[in-house]
Amino acid sequence: MVARTDQATDPDLLAALLQARRGTAFFARKLNELSDVELDGDSLLPGWTRRHITAHIGYNARAVARLVEWAATGVETPMYASTAVRDHEIEFGATLSPIALRHLFDHSAVHLNVEWRDLPADAWRHKVRTIQGREVPAAETVWMRTREVWIHAVDLDNGATFSDIPAPVLERLLADITGAWKTRGTDKGLVVKVTDRDLTFGDSSSASATVVFGPLAAVVEWAAGRGSNGVTAAGPGTAAANGTVPAAPKWI
Ligand code: ZN
Repeated sequence: MVARTDQATDPDLLAALLQARRGTAFFARKLNELSDVELDGDSLLPGWTRRHITAHIGYNARAVARLVEWAATGVETPMYASTAVRDHEIEFGATLSPIALRHLFDHSAVHLNVEWRDLPADAWRHKVRTIQGREVPAAETVWMRTREVWIHAVDLDNGATFSDIPAPVLERLLADITGAWKTRGTDKGLVVKVTDRDLTFGDSSSASATVVFGPLAAVVEWAAGRGSNGVTAAGPGTAAANGTVPAAPKWI
């Protein structure tokens, strides 16, 4: 029998699923506001049109769904055969007709949602592997998708901003991004402070650190490499001393 409701029972997981579904609905709304002609326009990502963003989000849902299927069946089905295959898929997807692109987004989102809905409660702990080679429980697929739909809705560049992203999503994003910097050691001499929350990340051991600060949405926008609107830098570093906000270290 096919389930009509989530098989997951963990309240945190159910809350996370809601956040992913809201993000998908938000992306859908921004996409639907764009005319077919506007899909040809530039996105906020260098070299990518809105078509590339839409294709990427569609194929991302399929890739994440493969991980959920892996967790359900125990049969290994990777996200993508390789990063080259993923990139090629996006380039191809960007050439689809507007109607096909929109269908790709809609159908892949519905498919992923069905895979999540029907995944038995105990299978959410099953391990799968991301394209970066990380072993994660299937529950992590929800976050992987959540950050994609919210950030790339902004990248469509038709009115969405980081302030539209729910605070819990922004906070987790910032923890992810600064965690990636720490792992790579690229956060040396850099402190990130969120002024409307009691949050500080980065290299707090350094007395001569450059401190980048601002409200949560602006700080995450900067940290994700989307410009420095609304953030300020301070500290003895040359750039900060003359008021220039340094570019955030690479994240992915
Ligand atoms: Zn992406």
